[in-house]
Order: sequence, then C-alpha cells, then structure tokens
Amino acid sequence: MQSGDSDSLFGGRLTIDLDAIAGNWRLLRDRLGGTGECAATVKADAYGTGLDHTAKRLFAEGCRTFFVAVPTEAVALRTSLPGATIYALDGLFPGTAPILAENDIRPVLGSYPEVQEWAAFCKTAGRSFKAAVHLDTGIHRLGLSREEFEAALNDPDITGPFTPSLLMSHLACGSDPAHPMNRRQRELFAHVTAPFAGIPRSLANSAGVLMGPEFHFDLVRPGISLFGGQAIETEPNPMQPVAKVEARIMIVRSVPEGDTIGYGAKQTATRPLRNAVVAAGYADGMLRRAGSSDDRPGGYAMIEGHKAPLLGRISMDMITLDVTDIPEHLVRRGAFVEMMGPNVAAADLAAYAETIDYEYLTSLGRRFHRRYGPLNL
Ligand SMILES: *Cc1c(COP(=O)(O)O)cnc(C)c1O
Repeated sequence: MQSGDSDSLFGGRLTIDLDAIAGNWRLLRDRLGGTGECAATVKADAYGTGLDHTAKRLFAEGCRTFFVAVPTEAVALRTSLPGATIYALDGLFPGTAPILAENDIRPVLGSYPEVQEWAAFCKTAGRSFKAAVHLDTGIHRLGLSREEFEAALNDPDITGPFTPSLLMSHLACGSDPAHPMNRRQRELFAHVTAPFAGIPRSLANSAGVLMGPEFHFDLVRPGISLFGGQAIETEPNPMQPVAKVEARIMIVRSVPEGDTIGYGAKQTATRPLRNAVVAAGYADGMLRRAGSSDDRPGGYAMIEGHKAPLLGRISMDMITLDVTDIPEHLVRRGAFVEMMGPNVAAADLAAYAETIDYEYLTSLGRRFHRRYGPLNL
C-alpha cells in the first residue's frame, strides 16, 4: 500500500514543524542576551509534539539541557540523546537512585527525604552524582521549604557526599506578570540561594524568560513557549505556532430550522443550516468542554479562511461544524479542515473550553496521522 493510501484511512492529522520549535528556542535563547543557558522542558512527550523528534531537533540547534517530569521520560530521552544533560522534575522516587545514576539522569530533589536518600546513595557509591535541589518559594507543590533547604545544604551528612549541580524554584503566577507573587518568589529565591555562590540557579519557565532578565538567573527552562503556546495571558504571544490539527469532513448535510444537533439536543438550528461532520472528537483531544449549546457558544474550525463555528456537543469521534455561510465548493466530503493551528490558536480554543493551551497540546492526537514538516505541508 502506498503511504497516500494509508494516510487516507485517518480521520485527522497532526503536523508538527520542528524548525518552528527550533526557531522558538532561538528566540527565547536570544532573550537571555548572551548570558546564561537556555534549556528546554520537554515533559509529556514534548507537550504532545513527540519527545524523540523534538529533543533531537533542539539538541541539533544547540540546546544541551533538558527537563522532563517522570523518570520513564528521562530514560526514554537518554536513549534519544546520549550527550545531553537530563533533569527529572518529579525528583527521586524511592529506591530509584541507582537506575537514575546508571542512565546519567539528574533528579530535581524536591523534599528533605529525597535529598537524604540521594546523599546516602552518593556516599555509598563514593561519588557525588549530579542532582538539582528544589526550593519551594511559594507554589507549595514540590520543593524544600526555606528552613529545610538551609538545613540540608548546611548538613555535613548531605554536603559531604553530595554537591547540587543546580538550585531551582518554580513560579506560581508567571502567566500574570503583574501578580505580586512573581517578585516575592524571585526575591526569596535570590536571597536563600545567595550563600551557595558557584552553584547555577534556575527560576524561569517560559513566562519567566519573557518577564525579563531579573528572572533569568543562570539557566532558564521554558516549555510551552517552545511549542507556540501563550505563556503570558495578558500580552501578545511572540512565539510562532508549531502544530496544526486537521480533521476530515465525512459528510455535509442540512438541518431544518427548529431541529437540534448532537447529543443531548443542546443546540437548536435557529435557521436552516448546512453542517459538516468531521472525524475528530474528544478521544482525539478536542476537549468536550469547547462544544456549543443554545446557552453558550463553542469553539470553531477554519476552512480556507472561513470560520466554521462548532454546533452542539463534541462527541468521542466527531464534531459538527456550521458551514452555512461558507462557499459550497470549499466544503467537500473528504477535505481536511483546520481544528487547531496557525489560524485557530490553541489559546483561543482553550478559552472556549475554560482551560489553557497546555491542556490542548498535551491531549492531542493519539489517533491522528502524525507527520513532521512545515505547517502548510
Ligand atoms: C512544566 C515546568 C516548566 C515549563 O513551564 P512552561 O510554563 O511550560 O514554560 C518549568 N519548570 C517546571 C518545574 C515545570 O514543572
């Protein structure tokens, strides 16, 4: 079977532009003005774009340090990138120090017991294996409290066998640069880590990079911005889109005025409608919450420059679009319509679903045909 034939069996397709991801990384790196290192956060399968492809492309672009969440991701990434520095943000799961060390993976130690377990492991091995230590500056998820952090880094049982390779913390409110918590966290981080001069420091996610030099410290670890997402909600997004989702039109049909569309009969045709039913649904990551009803507008798709609003609920495998006002020759059975991409910003779509573009990207496309290339491929 030719690839064209097998492509034709898919309901939807996901196109990922690795050059655009690399371009976004360069843009963020250039924001550092030549000081400090620009790492990349590639957890959750590189925000849905494919860990192996994306990490290799970023490494080729010059990125040398990568952050993932869980150890399984770190081990997978080690296979892709033998030469990279890899941190696992979720830290040290009990008893896993040997396997992390064996794969040259650095946990971001997020609690006192984790620091103790790692130090004990280093002591037994007679070698200071690299790891970061996470200071909680107010998000109250992972990280040692200030008191624990100071105690740990002044405890000879810990600092004897182990020297951290990175001190880090994480912003809680980066999406809103005006939030006073950003400054509070930055000041606490700078203050508490100051006595450990010589150990590199990292605070900034994507929003932190965009917020400016006082948030940059020695290493930044953007995620969502690499993937075109909107890290700061209150400002225009400087990043370029890297992914496009298209779904195939299965049928085009009419709905008489007064009839309803979809499960629950939640949307009524207020005039005679022409609708297109496309082959993507919530099982493909098209979040159900973005559906439409008589009470609340839903998201939209784009067909050759025309907006096609969603009609009714999003089903597991399909979505109905209002194409009444779109020229008929553009709405053909078998054609692909853009569900997300350069003309349908993930952040826009996310607003309809009362979520953020991070959730859209990381939910995408287990059933889509996935291809790498320019978005107009
Ligand atoms: C996910 C994550 C990042 C990347 O955040 P973005 O907002 O996607 O840039 C950085 N640091 C930590 C600790 C994270 O969990």
